[in-house]
Amino acid sequence: MDWLNNLLIYDGKFLGVQWSIWKVVGWLGNAVFFSRVFVQWYATEKLKRVVVPAIFWWLSLVGSLLLLSYGLFHNGDSVFILAYAFTWIPYIRNLIIHRRHSAAEMDCPHCSKICPPHSCFCFACGTRLGVLEPEQSAS
Ligand SMILES: [Zn+2]
Repeated sequence: MDWLNNLLIYDGKFLGVQWSIWKVVGWLGNAVFFSRVFVQWYATEKLKRVVVPAIFWWLSLVGSLLLLSYGLFHNGDSVFILAYAFTWIPYIRNLIIHRRHSAAEMDCPHCSKICPPHSCFCFACGTRLGVLEPEQSAS
């Protein structure tokens, strides 16, 4: 097992990295930020269409804030800091839009499928959803 020990720890450093709490924050930020790609890929493959689930935006937000913290408190590189300084804005906006869309979805009382907002009929069973507008019920 000395070969494994020598492979992992050399020069007194684990994987050749001088570890600190900010290194852990930076690597954790990298892992969280990078993991979003696999989450989005999985969701797309599962539905066989391009999908960006809400967890993608959460991973983007958390990962970029961890990387911004690393840049601000450890790295200090202006290029690195600027790369993550404003990315949280579209991530939070997309989470707000996703939440509003989810709240407006309609449950079919007949088959329990979740239908898009403002649907007049269930896409799965054809059951009429919601209340008809006055001009629709007059005809
Ligand atoms: Zn239905």
